[in-house]
Amino acid sequence: MWLGGEPVAAQTDAWFDVLAPADGTVLAQVPRAGREDVDAAVTVARQGFFTWSGQAPAAREAVLLKAAELMAGEGGARFLDTLIDESGSVIAKARNEIRYSVDLLRTAAGECRRLYGDTFPNDNPERLSMVFREPLGVVGVVSPYNAPLSLLVKMTAFPLAAGNAVVIKPSEETPLTALAFGQLLLDAGLPPQALSVLTGFGGECGAPLSGHPGLDCIALTGSTHTGIAVGKAAMEHMRRCQLELGGKSALLVLADADPEEAAAIAADGIFTHAGQICMANSRIVVEAPVFRDFTAALVRRAEALHLGDLRDENSRYGPLINRAALDKALAQVADAVARGATLLTGGEALHGLTMKPTVVEAPPLDCALWREETFAPVVSVVSAENLDEAIELANDSAYGLSAAVLTHHLQRGLAAARRLRSGAVHIGMHAFQSNALAPIGGLGLSGLGRSGGRYSTEEFTELKWISVEAPA
Ligand code: NAD
Repeated sequence: MWLGGEPVAAQTDAWFDVLAPADGTVLAQVPRAGREDVDAAVTVARQGFFTWSGQAPAAREAVLLKAAELMAGEGGARFLDTLIDESGSVIAKARNEIRYSVDLLRTAAGECRRLYGDTFPNDNPERLSMVFREPLGVVGVVSPYNAPLSLLVKMTAFPLAAGNAVVIKPSEETPLTALAFGQLLLDAGLPPQALSVLTGFGGECGAPLSGHPGLDCIALTGSTHTGIAVGKAAMEHMRRCQLELGGKSALLVLADADPEEAAAIAADGIFTHAGQICMANSRIVVEAPVFRDFTAALVRRAEALHLGDLRDENSRYGPLINRAALDKALAQVADAVARGATLLTGGEALHGLTMKPTVVEAPPLDCALWREETFAPVVSVVSAENLDEAIELANDSAYGLSAAVLTHHLQRGLAAARRLRSGAVHIGMHAFQSNALAPIGGLGLSGLGRSGGRYSTEEFTELKWISVEAPA
């Protein structure tokens, strides 16, 4: 792993296996970092912060642009196999992640020159008031497995752009992608002390990092359960935290939507990467007049998905990340069906950790399948009498990450979007949308804060008021 830019083992010399979800092959062994490694990384990062934040905006911009250039070229191509093997991505999804990572790095590079300040009037004309925007210091970055490259790039590039140093703790499922990204940043010229990548487990490494007194901010993308623990630790030190957590996103299909077209969009929004997407539209609410036609079309699409080899260009998705993830999804479906839902298709594993695309009609509204994150290729479909009921059903969730409305009636779509309780609402699209400039983030159990473009800059900087007594 990387400690201040140096390749090191864990101080205890413990290691763990990285497994391929597709066939259980051991891909590599990586260091199993613990509290003492976290201490060392935070100490180094404090020095790295002074070096990096002292560089001119143009110098920081040049490093991030170089990283983008490397990612867009041969350097990026090297991530393809790692993403496929380590995270079970199909090749198309792995390519998209690399492309989006280039975009994120370029966007973050642009932010280096945009640490704008402000001035404001003072009643005393001899006093000047200025507002400076300053980096926070050392940012801990704890990332998930589902988009192990693009999410890590996003969580790292924007804090770096603002002048912070970072200590990264990637998911224990996908450390190889993170180690390769660390290498790429060092190759791009990032001062070594500004970067550490500690490979390890949540309890042993993520928890000591998020509770470390030497940190100025902790950024987590992960489950709500982890987010609550990380948020509590941040509050004990009264420091910034940015939490991008789980979701149970709703997609509304309004009565004027074309059922075939809507089913194609909805299927993309739930089955991409086997539903292991925080914004996946795992709940679909359909206005009654199109319910039957839409549901039939969705089932046809689910059953027609090609689930071949991960390197097959036509494969739509691969395995879930591990056995626990598959068991959880199967149990949620079985519970909903036992309590009266109708299983329209799927509901079982196809082979290994790959789950059949699953469509469940009318689950009880208090069951885990409807209320909790499933993070698998499983979608629930319910019928609503009218738009009011559809919105009520969609909003009846503790999460609020993303939502979508399928209609050709723009005013109805906009009216629905204004009433949906969600960090984002997409009209004419599914709920899984990314944009490097967008303020991505959620309400309720979906997290705190926003990331992307200038919104990340706001998250990873602090404002300082400086005033001067300056008699004329
Ligand atoms: P997870 O919460 O299990 O793990 C995320 C990271 O937190 C890992 O690096 C893990 O090691 C670490 N961790 C675990 N326990 C910890 C602790 N006590 N203290 C500190 N760190 C700890 O999540 P996951 O299973 O890797 O990822 C899937 C989850 O991430 C889903 O809930 C998904 O919705 C969410 N997610 C959210 C977004 C978003 O933008 N809102 C994006 C992607 C994924």
